[in-house]
Amino acid sequence: MAKLDETLTMLKELTDARGIPGNEREVREVMKKYIAPYADEITTDGLGSLIAKKTGKEGGPKIMVAGHLDEVGFMVTQIDDKGFLRFQPVGGWWNQVMLAQRVTIVTRKGDVTGIIGSKPPHVLSPEARKKPVEIKDMFIDIGASSREEAQEWGIRPGDMVVPYFEFTVMKNEKMLLAKAWDNRIGCAIAVEVLKQLKDVDHPNVVYGVGNVQEEVGLRGAKTATYKIEPDIGFAVDVGIAGDTPGISEKEAMSKMGKGPQIVVYDASLVSHKGLRDLVTDTADELGIPYQFDSIPGGGTDAGSISLTHNGVPALAITIATRYIHSHAAMLHRDDFENAVKLIVEVIKRLDRETVDKITYE
Ligand SMILES: [Zn+2]
Repeated sequence: MAKLDETLTMLKELTDARGIPGNEREVREVMKKYIAPYADEITTDGLGSLIAKKTGKEGGPKIMVAGHLDEVGFMVTQIDDKGFLRFQPVGGWWNQVMLAQRVTIVTRKGDVTGIIGSKPPHVLSPEARKKPVEIKDMFIDIGASSREEAQEWGIRPGDMVVPYFEFTVMKNEKMLLAKAWDNRIGCAIAVEVLKQLKDVDHPNVVYGVGNVQEEVGLRGAKTATYKIEPDIGFAVDVGIAGDTPGISEKEAMSKMGKGPQIVVYDASLVSHKGLRDLVTDTADELGIPYQFDSIPGGGTDAGSISLTHNGVPALAITIATRYIHSHAAMLHRDDFENAVKLIVEVIKRLDRETVDKITYE
């Protein structure tokens, strides 16, 4: 693999870090390391969301740019007497992407490697072979011979189980393959926005945030937003790429590399019209590419942000990503860079008057 530049090194560290909902510490530490040089103050809410504050002007409008720290994974629920693990998916999983995948169980005594197992097809009836295996019939094999041995290795109910996959720059070096792009790319966008605003004069207070527990129902965004009380909120996350075989334009129109997605509607939010128009007008003016998308079957933290206190104008800006909620997903570096550029330019155009205009007119 080619030598990683500064940005790729951050992306590798963010995606290789492990953190299912409620277990975000490792990811929070990586994000903190990268965002701290550009923040005046770093705090967390009571659930562990990371909040990095950078004041452009004291008393200015508060702008929240939030990714989420957590990734979809599993939790150990039981160890059977033969040493196999039963587990609970944490976040949305599809049974077809799970079997025979390598996982890491993160225990108090260190990491244990496992593989998601099921019965081999050789012993199944012809009917059973045609059906996908249900998640409740899967187990994790760690190569232990008994419950006692698994316990000795440190495994306990409640331990997190994460997909194992190493960050990879593909042959086309713009294409990046990793676990947990959902939503470490959002964390990276929040870091980069603060970084690029470092020496910029603007009259706002910017918060780069890593929310916890998004994948179990947009939970950390509620508490982090409550603490910040922002005037404007952006959720930065992954979206659906519609450019693989078999997906029609009607199902998903976005293409990797064609700009960040402006989510006009999703199951959690009707995007704020004033904010959406400001964002797309800014992009049009500067020639920053973007694509519209709508995701009636999913939500983002923008939904939770919008419903905090007396309501916050919010928008989700997402990166078209292939194979989300599986072991490895793929996205295009240009989309990441254009999302950062767009949000930075929008923040430069925000001040009290513009925020009031967007909010109340
Ligand atoms: Zn997700």
